[in-house]
Amino acid sequence: AAAAPPPVIRKLDENVVNKIAAGEVIQRPASALKEMLENSLDAGSTQISVTVKEGGNKLLQITDNGSGIRKDDLPILCHRHTTSKLRQYEDLETISTLGFRGEALCSISFVSHMSVTTMARGAQYGYRVTFKDSEMEPPGPRPVAAVPGTTITVEDLFYNVPTRRKALKSATEEYGLILDVVGRYAVYSTGVALTCRRQGDSRPDISTTAAGSRVDAVRSVYGTEVARELLPLCVSAGGGTGPEVPVDGPMGLRVEGLISGANYGSGKKTVLVLFINGRCVECSPLRRCLEGLYGTLLPKAARPWIFLDVRLPPRQVEVNMHPTKREVGFMHQVEVIEEIRRAVESKLLASNECRTFATTA
Ligand code: ADP
Ligand code: MG
Repeated sequence: AAAAPPPVIRKLDENVVNKIAAGEVIQRPASALKEMLENSLDAGSTQISVTVKEGGNKLLQITDNGSGIRKDDLPILCHRHTTSKLRQYEDLETISTLGFRGEALCSISFVSHMSVTTMARGAQYGYRVTFKDSEMEPPGPRPVAAVPGTTITVEDLFYNVPTRRKALKSATEEYGLILDVVGRYAVYSTGVALTCRRQGDSRPDISTTAAGSRVDAVRSVYGTEVARELLPLCVSAGGGTGPEVPVDGPMGLRVEGLISGANYGSGKKTVLVLFINGRCVECSPLRRCLEGLYGTLLPKAARPWIFLDVRLPPRQVEVNMHPTKREVGFMHQVEVIEEIRRAVESKLLASNECRTFATTA
């Protein structure tokens, strides 16, 4: 049989391109929230509060006391690839902000009803504006009474993407994923007061203070049981031990952490709260390695709780691996993981409980 004539190739409508791209960055309420939370942190906020309704399907609202957004920037706020954070591609090597792609707000505006109230530091007024499909809706920014900072409200997420809506889990499960994101940042971001609550609840589910220590944050997010079992961890390898993060050297690794000991972690699931150069990421090889180590050393506490703040020379870390930035690539991965494993091992062996366990087992 004769082949059919070739189909015509056409350029996709920009609106279609944007809708497709939106699905890549924003998979569920928790991923939208993560992007917004990172924006608030990038804006230098010390107070951030999150309000959620129906697992974020109905409402996601985040209020911060950061820099705010200049009125003149509002018209392009939700355009694709507009950002205040990156100028040259080379800057990616040393970027210190969590964002740089300029596409999160754009993506969110394509799949929700979004409104922004913001007052720039130093400005006289605040402004409120709504966005749809990356564009500001008429009549544009309206002056409102406000305090410096920004509130972003996202309603009816995926209202126009029924397949995505159907793929979501129950409101309770989606809310759990939101709490997981907020909880990780709450532990990492000492100096920032973070709260997360369901709309209508007077008591927040997560609430940390700006003055509290990291262990205070762990207690408030993950509970007393974890917080009282933590051992501090400190690693510094290859590249000097000075107070500054080394820029060169084969590894230049520095780690500060909190890890659970012998009296925690039977039957619960492992929690690894991992930040690499300030980014909340996953690293399955490291996770497997540490799980294996606990399983061997402390079979009765084989489901540990671990927080690691890992610093590597910025040039050894590739941040642009994926639109969601869920993973980063880093050089010397095997050596870095081994260094961390060794440190955790000696910490556990040095702790009394473990020695007791080892001798009585
Ligand atoms: P990116 O974070 O990659 O720059 P986004 O789409 O997340 O891209 O945000 C676009 C821009 O909007 C940011 O570069 C920032 O200037 C501004 N912005 C977003 N959220 C906030 C906020 N909470 N406070 C101040 N500025 C914000
Ligand atoms: Mg961002």
